Amino acid sequence: MILIVLLIEMVEVSVEDGLQPNTHFLHAKDGHTYYLNKVVKGGRLSLECMFYRRKGRPCRGRASVGANGLDFKLKKIHNHAPDHNLIHQRRLRSAILLRCRSGDPSMLRVIYDEERRRLKTPRVAAANIPFVTLRPAMQRARQSTLPRIPKTLTDLDVILRDDKYCFLTKTLDGQDCIYAGATGNEAEKTRCLIFMSERMLKYLARVKTIFSDATFCVVPTDLNGAQVWNLVTLRRHTTIGIGSIIMQSKSTECYRAAIKGIKHLLPSFNPQTIMCDYESSQQKAWALEFPNAERYGCLFHASKAILKKAKEKGLIPYIENNQHVDLAVRCLCALPLLPRNCIVDGLLQVSEAAFRKGLWSVMESLFKYVFKTWLSASRLPIFSVYECKDRTTNCCESYNYSLQTEVKTTHPNIFALISALVRLEDNTVQLLHVLSPGGNPRRKRKASVLVNDSRIRGLSEDLNEGNITRYKFLRQASRRMQGLYNDMLGPLKDN
Ligand SMILES: [Zn+2]
Repeated sequence: MILIVLLIEMVEVSVEDGLQPNTHFLHAKDGHTYYLNKVVKGGRLSLECMFYRRKGRPCRGRASVGANGLDFKLKKIHNHAPDHNLIHQRRLRSAILLRCRSGDPSMLRVIYDEERRRLKTPRVAAANIPFVTLRPAMQRARQSTLPRIPKTLTDLDVILRDDKYCFLTKTLDGQDCIYAGATGNEAEKTRCLIFMSERMLKYLARVKTIFSDATFCVVPTDLNGAQVWNLVTLRRHTTIGIGSIIMQSKSTECYRAAIKGIKHLLPSFNPQTIMCDYESSQQKAWALEFPNAERYGCLFHASKAILKKAKEKGLIPYIENNQHVDLAVRCLCALPLLPRNCIVDGLLQVSEAAFRKGLWSVMESLFKYVFKTWLSASRLPIFSVYECKDRTTNCCESYNYSLQTEVKTTHPNIFALISALVRLEDNTVQLLHVLSPGGNPRRKRKASVLVNDSRIRGLSEDLNEGNITRYKFLRQASRRMQGLYNDMLGPLKDN
């Protein structure tokens, strides 16, 4: 060991790890590569050419160097030209294989290119070990460490709890682990695996508003998981990913199992506000587990559904050509901005106005749809986003997008998904370090967003004080979501 420490300090030779464990190469300034032969009297190191024992045409090249790494002397000449690229090749090769053995599930081609760029390997050197040549060794290195692909969530849980595979879920700084454990059971299709580091769990303890949303395209094909459910919060309008849960099904019971799992890990978990889209099993599970929390849907999802229905009813040409139809549909999209107890009346006033303009026959079925679907006993309580600090679950969309970007492909291998979750956790922890001292990690919110926010607040106050009717509120407030409305309408017009 002492010898190796000494060697690393050397200036005329540099030491690289060999292909086998505990073997080393010495690259000398003469462009030749040596093995250590022995330490001779006086502490000098006797070196022999790496081809000394090569079959066929061995090279008897020898050299020696002082223990301080200086005073390099060639003792016997080589029978081949020096190769200054070899040191770069060896470095690249061992870095790549090390990464494959570390369980990094990135594509092999990606690992090769990333390491080549990171080490700034000269092109000529890298050309001597192109990707195709190195690929078999990379595959062997990877297979030697990754477990077999699990078929069920229970199998995966067994793997992740095995100490041998803790590197799969270790955080990038090595201080934490993103796997928190399993809950539910396979037979009832409620198995859930929770991916949330200790430190994010700690953070969750003080989160008051939680956003949740499920995504499907990152679910591994060969695993019996139905979806990945992400928990997100906002801090000063910045999306903070709390954790992800691989769920066996989309049933209310499976959602409940997931939430119970988190409660078990964090008994003080008690969100005051919960926002998610209108998927009934998800909403129901939150309601059952946290009956006292305020629950909300999402303005964006509701408006989008209403506009899609308008298209189904053949209203797009009317919206484009008749300003009264356009106004009425826009007001319907703005209904969630009203206080809960004003929504039914708001809808009534919009339909009366349409009736007065002679549009009843055109719009009747859309009004009926909104009444039946959105003002139903289960939807109405979560339809209004009145006075909500955030009116949409867009932060979930943005987190889903980050996850998809990290995973790089749809329906990845499970280890690629886990590694993406590890990287996202690291990004989040970094983000919290920027936010904690009051820093701002993202660009400022757009002036138009701020103006619209303040206008909607002003209109809400006027409505409260009885200065404006509900219809007038809807007309004015819907103007404040014109951008969103146009964005959603655009694609519907096109096809
Ligand atoms: Zn030689």
